[in-house]
Amino acid sequence: MSIREAIRSASEKCLAGEVLTKEEMIRLLDIPVGSPDDDRLRETADIAAHRLTGNRGYIWCAVGMDFVPCTMNCTFCSFGEKWHVIKEKRHVSEEKIMESVRRYAAGGAAYVILRTTEFYSIDRLLEYIPRIRREVPGDYVFVLNTGEMTPEIAEKVAKGGVYGAYHALRLREGRDTPFDEQTRIDTMMSIAGSPLKLISLTEPIGPEHTSEEIAERFLNTVRCGAVMGGAMARFPVAGTPFEGTRRLNDEEMAHITAVLRLSGGSTISDICVHPASDIAMRSGANVLVVECGAIPRDAVYSESDWANTDMAIARKRLTDANYRISHVV
Ligand code: SF4
Repeated sequence: MSIREAIRSASEKCLAGEVLTKEEMIRLLDIPVGSPDDDRLRETADIAAHRLTGNRGYIWCAVGMDFVPCTMNCTFCSFGEKWHVIKEKRHVSEEKIMESVRRYAAGGAAYVILRTTEFYSIDRLLEYIPRIRREVPGDYVFVLNTGEMTPEIAEKVAKGGVYGAYHALRLREGRDTPFDEQTRIDTMMSIAGSPLKLISLTEPIGPEHTSEEIAERFLNTVRCGAVMGGAMARFPVAGTPFEGTRRLNDEEMAHITAVLRLSGGSTISDICVHPASDIAMRSGANVLVVECGAIPRDAVYSESDWANTDMAIARKRLTDANYRISHVV
C-alpha cells in the first residue's frame, strides 16, 4: 500500500470509529515532517477532526496549585527536588484561584483543572471544588491532575463533583521517572473504572522518542479508556537533566497530532496539543491549554497565563481553525 493509500485508509478507519494498529500508526509517524505526504496527512486529520467533533473546540484551563519541590524527581519536571530549580516555594492563594477561574469561565473554558505535584492532599483539593463552584458559576467541568488514585479514591473524587482526572503513563516511564509503569496504568484504570473520565496525553515528547514509543503510549491511552488524548512536547527547562536538549517544533508537534487524531477513531474523540500552534490546530487538534501558577515546564511561578497564551489567543486559535468554542463538554 502506498503512503497516500495508507493515509486514506487511516482516515476511513477513523471516521468509521476504528482505532489503528501500532504498525499503521508507525507508518504514519514515519512520514517525513514537512513533506508533501505530511501536508496530506495533516489536511486529512483536520477534515476528520471537524467531522468527528462536530466542529466543537474546547479550552482546557489549568491552575497549577503548588510550586514546591517534588521528591519523585522526574527528569523532565522543574519541580523535581534534586534539580533545585524552585528557589521559593509558592501555593496559589484562594483569591487567585477564584480570579483565574472567573477569567477562564468568562472566556469560555470547558475544563477547569486543578493541577498539583504528586503528593498533594486529595481532601484539600476536594474542599476547593464547591467553593470555586459557588464563587464562579458556569457550565465548565472540574478535572484533577494530581497523584495516584486507587478505585476508592477515584470514586470519592467523582462524588466530590469532579468530572475527570488527568493521568499519563509517561514516555520512558521508569527511566526518565522513578515510577513503575504498572503504578501509572493502575491509576489510569482506577479513573476509567470509576464515574470519572480519564484524560491522558502522550507526553512529554522529545526528539529521541521513536515512532514505536509514541504509538505504544497512545495505544495504552486507548486501552485504558481515555476520552481525550493528544500530544505534549517536553520543555528543556534550565537546571533539569534535559537542559540544552531540543524542544520539538510546531511542525513536528502538528505531525504527531495528526497521526494521533487519525489513530483514535471515535474512541478518543477529542485531541489536545500542548503547546498549541496554528498549524497544530489545523492538523487534528480541537483542544488547547491555557494555564497559570505552578507550571512543571518552567523554572518560575507564572502569575499570569503562561507563555502569553491567554483566553483571547486560545479563542482565536480555535476559531481560526474553524472550531466553534464549546463551554459545555
Ligand atoms: S512530574 Fe509529577 S511526580 Fe514527577 S517530579 Fe513532577 S510533580 Fe513530581
